[in-house]
Amino acid sequence: MAHTTGTTDVAIVGGGPGGLTLARLLTMRGTRVTVYERDAGPAARTQGGTLDLHADTGQRALRAAGLTRAFRRHARPEGEDMLLLDRTGTVLHRDDTPDDSPALRPEIDRADLRDLLLDSLPPGTVAWGRTLRTATPTGRDGDGGGWQLEFADGGRAEHRVVIGADGANSRLRPLLTPAVPQHLGVNTVEGAVPDIDRVRPDLAAAVGRGSYWVMGEGRSFVAQRCSDGSVRIGLSFHGPADRAADWLTTCGIPFESPDGARAALLPLFADWTPECRALIEACPGPFTPRALTALPVGLRWPHRPGLTLLGDAAHLMPPVGHGANAAMRDALELATALDATPGSSDAALRAYEEEMFARTAGVAAESARILEMITSPEGGRRVAAFFRGEGD
Ligand SMILES: Cc1cc2nc3c(=O)[nH]c(=O)nc-3n(C[C@H](O)[C@H](O)[C@H](O)COP(=O)(O)OP(=O)(O)OC[C@H]3O[C@@H](n4cnc5c(N)ncnc54)[C@H](O)[C@@H]3O)c2cc1C
Repeated sequence: MAHTTGTTDVAIVGGGPGGLTLARLLTMRGTRVTVYERDAGPAARTQGGTLDLHADTGQRALRAAGLTRAFRRHARPEGEDMLLLDRTGTVLHRDDTPDDSPALRPEIDRADLRDLLLDSLPPGTVAWGRTLRTATPTGRDGDGGGWQLEFADGGRAEHRVVIGADGANSRLRPLLTPAVPQHLGVNTVEGAVPDIDRVRPDLAAAVGRGSYWVMGEGRSFVAQRCSDGSVRIGLSFHGPADRAADWLTTCGIPFESPDGARAALLPLFADWTPECRALIEACPGPFTPRALTALPVGLRWPHRPGLTLLGDAAHLMPPVGHGANAAMRDALELATALDATPGSSDAALRAYEEEMFARTAGVAAESARILEMITSPEGGRRVAAFFRGEGD
């Protein structure tokens, strides 16, 4: 599609947890919204693993969005189960979720979360297959905003207010700040074992209902149960030899070949628990490499009329369980601010930014501290003490 003109008040670029939550909250209030999403359609790619949604952030936003019942249909409180081992199999910590758990951090598959948010939107809200290339101010809006968006397909659209919810490599962020994500000295490889109860019931039992986490020197391994019958695995590398920003491209692991990648990864876990090795062996591929990056803690920018960011676009953090929650809380705060100042969307964006900068700086600092703990030489012992509430 080419040369379309926006007819809605608010454009949201990116249909991840943050963008879709905002779209739901705004359309509930009668605001006309278009979400421009790069994916060709809702099933264009697998959404990845599972997210734990916290009571005061992700769940709070879903409550405001009237989606608590839908969330409970998919949420897995038992997904909070956790077994933490060292690489020889010694148990460092174990958490078994009681039946009457208050569900402070239940898990939900990313795909289920995306579907329930999409189902809550008026038809046509999401414009699929629209990859934003750039945005320029029109200067035509009375409130000082107004932006023209340009898409990779050659199309254009104008909107009064534009919200960048386009994730880690946001195309809108450079219009507000020169900050770019920096490598964190951690490289990861992700995979999945589908239909695990049928193909490897022994491994399904070892992983249990939640997470099976093994920590060793310079490496860690996590396996997590998802509601689609799969177990997702994640291997992390942060030892002196494999923490470089270019390690994933220089290590010689042929990620384009599942068999080759599996054969190269197994020796790196040779003296780890048999379950770690068996889970890598059972993973048919693909094995997806990912270098961990984050934006500077406490990032802020001078306000520009009619444009702001939320979620990873605004405050990409180490993936220790806060990112999606913070993105959804951003959406709630932004929708609330727009409600509070109906006459001036720009005053709302300013108020939102001040609240978001202050709130997420603390979350980003906490995430960086947890990553430091996980990747330290005594990581297993420190993480176990952290879970026991003994501080660090
Ligand atoms: C391995 C891993 C595990 C994690 N676990 C957790 C967890 O348990 N709990 C938690 O809270 N967080 C977790 N996170 C972090 C979480 O995934 C992110 O913080 C969250 O997805 C951010 O949401 P978002 O809506 O800001 O961005 P995203 O989820 O990145 O969504 C951005 C959307 O924008 C679209 N897009 C991108 N560029 C464009 C463009 N140019 N034009 C149009 N569309 C575009 C993308 O296709 C995507 O749909 C984890 C992250 C990783 C890597």
